Amino acid sequence: MGQIANVPEVSSQFKLDMETASRLRPELMAQSVAAAGHYATGGLAFERLLPEVPPASSSKVRWRLQIVENDQLNAYSSPDGTVYVESGLAKMAGPSAGLWAAILSHEIAHIVRRDWARRYLYEKVLETSGSQNIVLGDPGVPQANWSSSEKASADLGRFCRQMELEADREGLMLMARAGYHPDFVPALHHLLHARSSGLKTASLYAMHPCWEERDHELGGAYTKASIEFEHRWREWYASPGGNPPVIVFADSPLVKKHGSKEWEIQVPMRCQNLVGAVEVVLRADPGRKEMMRIGELSDADDRGYEVRQLTGCTSPRTTVVFPQAEIMARRKPGTQWTDVYVIDAWGSVLARADLPKLPE
Ligand SMILES: [Zn+2]
Repeated sequence: MGQIANVPEVSSQFKLDMETASRLRPELMAQSVAAAGHYATGGLAFERLLPEVPPASSSKVRWRLQIVENDQLNAYSSPDGTVYVESGLAKMAGPSAGLWAAILSHEIAHIVRRDWARRYLYEKVLETSGSQNIVLGDPGVPQANWSSSEKASADLGRFCRQMELEADREGLMLMARAGYHPDFVPALHHLLHARSSGLKTASLYAMHPCWEERDHELGGAYTKASIEFEHRWREWYASPGGNPPVIVFADSPLVKKHGSKEWEIQVPMRCQNLVGAVEVVLRADPGRKEMMRIGELSDADDRGYEVRQLTGCTSPRTTVVFPQAEIMARRKPGTQWTDVYVIDAWGSVLARADLPKLPE
């Protein structure tokens, strides 16, 4: 993947981000409420993160958390220091301070890094394609090609993904310092990935890299944050976020053929922080719309939409196998098996993966 090495630094003279923020503020505030009541956990996590935030480059930053009551699954931040979390996402985080910290630390990182301004400046560079002032540092992109709008939008997409990953990395360290285990970040990504099943609607997350990619890219930053957390918080259960959550990394399921007719589905996976067992659930498409509300799998057991299997998931390379005979016997005519979910004992979704097309 091409790296964009030289993201324009934002000069201290640049004020358009703060000016735009104050212009939009009245409207954004009118459309949102303070994080109290049901959302008090979010407010508390926000308060706990702030003392660990590096000083913002503008003294005008006033930290504040607002909830937008529209049931959407998004979060965004204003350069003035206000973080907006949409109520679908807020409900998903619910009483988990760790999930809240994962959402909020990422948004705080955007504000501290002045990512709004960076994106604005980068777009300006793309518009004035002849500009020699800023080196974009991607040798794969000849400058002459920027005039093509398709190319420009691909460049912008890549630039935004890069900013997202950097915000993830800085957010991880911030939450680890404040006492939230870094494992809450992949846990959040997996929940969001599971909720995006079958949805093709455009969302503000369209600019974000896909969730699995973000997990892989965290790499060294995740390790560093884990070391920082362990160093600062010796007794995990007593940290502000409590014990780390169970996380499941489910790889793409495979269809393995035996001879000419027989086959099985293999689901390779790895579990972390698991005590006990998880259930692997194969689902057929009709269950899709109704299955997920607040990150929980609805019960469709007796309607022929699913097959389940328990696993202790003790090996770093656990493979759960669904034989052809078993799943085809359970399938209702006219339906297709589409998804694999991994759930905990309470039905909360820990991971989801798409099934490949099955042999007839
Ligand atoms: Zn972001």
